[in-house]
Amino acid sequence: MEYVEHVTDLVGNTPLVKLGSLAEGVSATVLAKVEYFNPGGSVKDRIALRMVEAAEASGELRPGGTIVEPTSGNTGVGLAMIAQRKGYKCVFVCPDKVSEDKRNTLKAYGAEVVVCPTAVAPEHPNSYYNVSDRLVKEIEGAWKPDQYSNPQNPESHYQQTGPEIWKQTDGRITHFVAGVGTGGTISGTGRYLKEVSEGRVKIIGADPEGSVYSGGTGRPYLVEGVGEDFWPSTYDREIADQIIAISDAESFEVTRRLAREEGMLVGGSCGMAAAAAIKLARGLGPDDVVVVLLPDGGRGYLSKVFNDDWMASYGFLPPEHSGATVGDVL
Ligand code: PMP
Repeated sequence: MEYVEHVTDLVGNTPLVKLGSLAEGVSATVLAKVEYFNPGGSVKDRIALRMVEAAEASGELRPGGTIVEPTSGNTGVGLAMIAQRKGYKCVFVCPDKVSEDKRNTLKAYGAEVVVCPTAVAPEHPNSYYNVSDRLVKEIEGAWKPDQYSNPQNPESHYQQTGPEIWKQTDGRITHFVAGVGTGGTISGTGRYLKEVSEGRVKIIGADPEGSVYSGGTGRPYLVEGVGEDFWPSTYDREIADQIIAISDAESFEVTRRLAREEGMLVGGSCGMAAAAAIKLARGLGPDDVVVVLLPDGGRGYLSKVFNDDWMASYGFLPPEHSGATVGDVL
């Protein structure tokens, strides 16, 4: 019989899938590392597992303890899944702008969700940041992973994601492309690939236009999970050889094409990373192998990127697309 004891045993070892029509006219090979194959549906399962195991080893997280993290997304799902297996409680703090579907996803795994008002300053006692800090102090046995400062976040990619890519490409990778949020993925994977290739592999960050990583001020953009308005300690500012800024419009266009043309229903930051990879690959030759990491699946974005009305409301589709159905066209 072939089986695992628990779904968390399936974290990592995600496949590489070659991009077809999206990379038309490109002579380099462009391979997507498809992270929605992780059991919680995103790359964040990797960091969640490693942060929890390290906290157990250091004694910061003890049996019966509670994981408290300000997160509404993929990191929460990864932590909740691992907490379920190991018998920890989870309390996630998220701002009220987070969709009910996202909150319900976390609750479905057995987590408790505390919702904070978005319309208060960070220093307000009820702000997202202050509430999570207060809960850590108040709950006995509480531990806060803090993915923005936890060195186990990049370390998980140094230990796992980087070696996987090197082995899967038989050492032929020449360029690695990833979006930058906490910076954990690019910093850990990038450090491993640079070390193992003695500096040959180039590391390229993809960033939403407006974010600090590509020289912006933190100006708002719509793509989720990437870009910042501050510099987290999990990001190694020396790692990227190049940062490519991608607009929301282009990120979303490529995200939709990944579903329609490549059969991969993925999130908006995947379209952003893939857009950067294709831009880069256009200037490369037939011996080059570009690996681009696609962090999550697209189910969480059906009412946004994949909704024509939402897209049209931001001007990403012409107004005539809004509300159009096949019936209208006929
Ligand atoms: N895409 C999505 C959807 C994410 O949730 C994240 C994590 N914030 C990233 C990309 C960026 O990954 P990292 O935090 O490792 O830089």
